[in-house]
Amino acid sequence: MSDHIDRVLDASVKQDIWSRILLERARQDEKWGKARERNQTKRQWLTILMEEVGEVAEAILEGDDANYPVELVQVAAVCVAALEDWAAQEEREHHG
Ligand SMILES: [Mg+2]
Repeated sequence: MSDHIDRVLDASVKQDIWSRILLERARQDEKWGKARERNQTKRQWLTILMEEVGEVAEAILEGDDANYPVELVQVAAVCVAALEDWAAQEEREHHG
């Protein structure tokens, strides 16, 4: 395969993955409220993240190949949500 086609396919896969993460972020905000307004502690976010990581492990242990990427996307989306909340808290702390 040519380098060009390889790069286009690689970009397409990345685009698809980021799209899935953004969709999952929107779903989470709808379910739990906007991440930047949740004002949760680092420990609370870590607990949520580890719960989601556990679901990745569960998918692997159960041989659930269809759910494996879904759960990984949820892990990534929780990381993004925690970063959004952290950024909002930093903003409030430093800029009132
Ligand atoms: Mg999950």
